[in-house]
Amino acid sequence: MNARRYSRQIPLLGEEGQQALRSSRVGLVGLGGLGCNALTHLATAGVGSFVLVDHQFPEESNLNRQFVHCLVGPSVSKADSAAAWVASLNPDAEVVAVTGSLEGTDAVEMLRGCDVILDCLDNNESRLRLNSFALEGRIPVVHAAVQEWHGQVMVVDAGVGPCLGCILPSHECSSPPVIGSVAGVIGSLQASEAIKVITGIGEVLIGRLLSVDISRNSYQSWDLERKPGCPHCSSLIE
Ligand SMILES: [Zn+2]
Repeated sequence: MNARRYSRQIPLLGEEGQQALRSSRVGLVGLGGLGCNALTHLATAGVGSFVLVDHQFPEESNLNRQFVHCLVGPSVSKADSAAAWVASLNPDAEVVAVTGSLEGTDAVEMLRGCDVILDCLDNNESRLRLNSFALEGRIPVVHAAVQEWHGQVMVVDAGVGPCLGCILPSHECSSPPVIGSVAGVIGSLQASEAIKVITGIGEVLIGRLLSVDISRNSYQSWDLERKPGCPHCSSLIE
């Protein structure tokens, strides 16, 4: 480990915390606005291994927030583009890039070995699929979502607090407008939660939803309860 590279964060994380990042394997599902930001901070923080999953290729309308893909053409998948980005930021990091969805066996096999998974997805159907997979494998998930000037972050720890099935609304807006810098704030918060989960430092947003409105500079958080009879997590607890 290059201690000088991390000398400004080791006083906060300790040698043990830095080594925990180095030894960790982090999954990111979705490499859009949230994923680009969270990945950047985790790669530069010294996370040792990534599994990057996205089935899409970049489109021009992505580029107001998905800066990782600005240097590649539309023929390079987001997963491959993000893998090259990590290599440029931190050549010590290992990356497995999966151009596919969560239904694919490649993604499932690779994510199974992760210590934490970041939900950087843009729709609740895929989020619930990730939720079920992670609950089954007892892998913590750092959930985030962003829309217009708003965003939210919560951590799901199987069997402890509510899962995504307990909290996500049944309706959602598809392709909502998004300010890129807001995705930056929320993606950075998501990376910070992942660092805390991995190192065991600080208070993690397990079962606590942080809601951010950048247009009003409002940051609020509150505890959420499990939904009685939730089809996703009830069997883990009752
Ligand atoms: Zn649940």
